[in-house]
Amino acid sequence: PLLFFSKMKPVRRLVYCRVRPLSQDDQECCIEVISETTIQLHPPDGIKVNRNGEFKETQYSFKKVFGINTTQLELFEDVAKPLVDDLLHCKNGLLFTYGVTGSGKTYTMTGSPGQGGLLPRCLNMIFNSIGPYQAKRFVFKTDDKNGMEIQTQVDALLERQKRENQSALIKTPKQRLDPDVADMINIEDTCKVEGIDEDSVFTIFVSYIEIYNNYIYDLLEETPFEPIKPKPPQSKILREDQNHNMYVAGCTEVEVKSTEEAFEVFWKGQKKRRIANTQLNRESSRSHSVFIIKLAQAPLDADGDNVLQEKEQICVSQLCLVDLAGSERTHRTKAEGNRLREAGNINQSLMTLRTCIEVLRENQMYGTNKMVPYRDSKVTHLFKNYFDGEGKVRMIVCVNPKADDYEETLLVMRFAEMTQEVEVARPVDRPICGLTPGRRHRNQAFKDELTRKLDEREVPLMESFPPLPSCELVDPSDEQTLPALIECLEKRQRAREMLIETKSMIQNFEGTVSGKDNIIQEQRAKLSDKDRIILQHKSELDRLEKKTKTLEYKIDILQKTANIYEEDKRALQQELDTKDQKLHRQLSDNRRLEARLQGVASETKIKWEKECERRVAAKQLEMQNKLWVKDEKLKQLKAIVTENKNERPDQPEKPERPSRDKDKVLLRPGQFRIETGVPGGNPRRHWENMQTPRREDPGSKPRSPGLPTARQQRYPLRHRAALA
Ligand code: ADP
Ligand code: MG
Repeated sequence: PLLFFSKMKPVRRLVYCRVRPLSQDDQECCIEVISETTIQLHPPDGIKVNRNGEFKETQYSFKKVFGINTTQLELFEDVAKPLVDDLLHCKNGLLFTYGVTGSGKTYTMTGSPGQGGLLPRCLNMIFNSIGPYQAKRFVFKTDDKNGMEIQTQVDALLERQKRENQSALIKTPKQRLDPDVADMINIEDTCKVEGIDEDSVFTIFVSYIEIYNNYIYDLLEETPFEPIKPKPPQSKILREDQNHNMYVAGCTEVEVKSTEEAFEVFWKGQKKRRIANTQLNRESSRSHSVFIIKLAQAPLDADGDNVLQEKEQICVSQLCLVDLAGSERTHRTKAEGNRLREAGNINQSLMTLRTCIEVLRENQMYGTNKMVPYRDSKVTHLFKNYFDGEGKVRMIVCVNPKADDYEETLLVMRFAEMTQEVEVARPVDRPICGLTPGRRHRNQAFKDELTRKLDEREVPLMESFPPLPSCELVDPSDEQTLPALIECLEKRQRAREMLIETKSMIQNFEGTVSGKDNIIQEQRAKLSDKDRIILQHKSELDRLEKKTKTLEYKIDILQKTANIYEEDKRALQQELDTKDQKLHRQLSDNRRLEARLQGVASETKIKWEKECERRVAAKQLEMQNKLWVKDEKLKQLKAIVTENKNERPDQPEKPERPSRDKDKVLLRPGQFRIETGVPGGNPRRHWENMQTPRREDPGSKPRSPGLPTARQQRYPLRHRAALA
């Protein structure tokens, strides 16, 4: 849910840009600062020609742009001061410098003699702020699991003595501060964090690591000096502590008490880095360096005198200052062989950084939950928690305006532009110690008052006794000395009595005061209880508020989703309706078509039936006719035969037409009968009607009776009827 919360935070810019002045060898400048927040890139001459005269100027915006005249102080005030402020208020911070080699990353982070960079300035501000409230050395102790222990001042003192005894044996004479170093930490202004908790004690630990070729090296590790065959440095591994913070396992953490001491430690690491790079033939611009300032703070006890011995009350915060490797592509470094592989890896880790930031940005902008590939490189893995929202992240993009760098600078700008939109910061809740604020001052005031009172008391005591007169008796008739002495002694006696009285009075008074004190203490305890309750309520309230916000956000998203679905539903419903209508229309069309087709089919059927009938009839007629003709011929033949055979006159000469019909219906000459096989048709059909009119036709030529004309044979029945 916290991650979710960090996603919904408004997007704030976190990238600054610093433009360094052109060096003397370079003439052409391709960057122009056009406003407090914007720079413009001009492609240098060569590039313009190469790209067919394409001339494109591009602008890039940042949270703030620092031009060539910006001093180290100005930069510090804007960029790093808020991070130091956070550090002292128990919040983490991460500051990167990013850019091409020679663009001023190291100048910005470390500085040069006389021009201290962000690192010494941060240290200076930190020690200025916690100076009077620093814990004695060894009161805080780091353990090997990224945790912090606390011990009493007495134990711390004993440990200090023990260590001093040990180191005295191998101690080398203390060198004086390197003048260059002294120049870098000689910071003109002394700024301070306001509102730091004066009822706490503080201490600073520093560590310095280098990441080269995706291996982590501890630059503060004490290694025995081996002049003949120096051992290569051992790389370290990353671990996750119980609070899910990443740390370099076994990394040296040095407790420091002043800016000088801290910077000296840094400088020592820096020297070691340089030596290692030379010995191992490394390209130093290809390594990332990380300087970690860890602040531990713990509340004073109720008396305001000692550190509260409660581990849970220790608050640890850290500020990481990272000088990244040069962002240029490999070919620029003219790396070869081994170095090329290393360079590839370094680019890989910068690429992972870019990818991580890209994914984070996407997650923030679109509310997605994509995996951020932190583990792909040591740099991103080490700072995983920062990206997850635990602390402020800032980046200074350094640029050199020279023409040679133009193309690389363009790439840097593109990355910076994307990084702009990622902001990850969530509040860190401090443990509440529940003790009354102002303990340190009260304790101090009490001590002061005590000494003052003691001082005051001595004086009136001595003065309240009148001096004894001289008691030397020389003259027996001395009448004055003794009475004077008596008087004086009486006076003293009286004064003494008075003093005793006053003393008892004072004792009484003190009794009442202490009673009052007790009451006050009680009230204070009650008050602090109430305070605690209030704080608890407040944090509960905060939590609920956050929850409400998250839920509101979720509701909002759900509402939007619901709306979208609703719209979808409506659209789909509409679509369904139109489809339904269309379907109905199609159905009725189909029905109509079917009916029509049925009509056509039955019509065609009838037509064909009739046609078939007609053809059958015609055929039958034709056959009948043929038959009839044959019959006729046969008859004639028969007649001839009988005529020849039968000279006898009694023989009847009646030609008979043979018939195959079973019922043997007698037909008149010229009449005949057929049987049709056409289904649905009349089983018998007589053709008399057809033949009769022909016989009566006056214009017809005489021919064999009943014989159908050629015309009759040629045309179908119906047509013949029509012709008739
Ligand atoms: P990087 O660390 O990015 O490779 P450096 O910080 O080493 O670059 O800078 C290269 C050179 O430029 C150094 O000599 C440095 O003093 C000089 N330089 C860089 N930035 C500035 C600046 N803003 N003003 C003056 N000199 C600068
Ligand atoms: Mg550098």
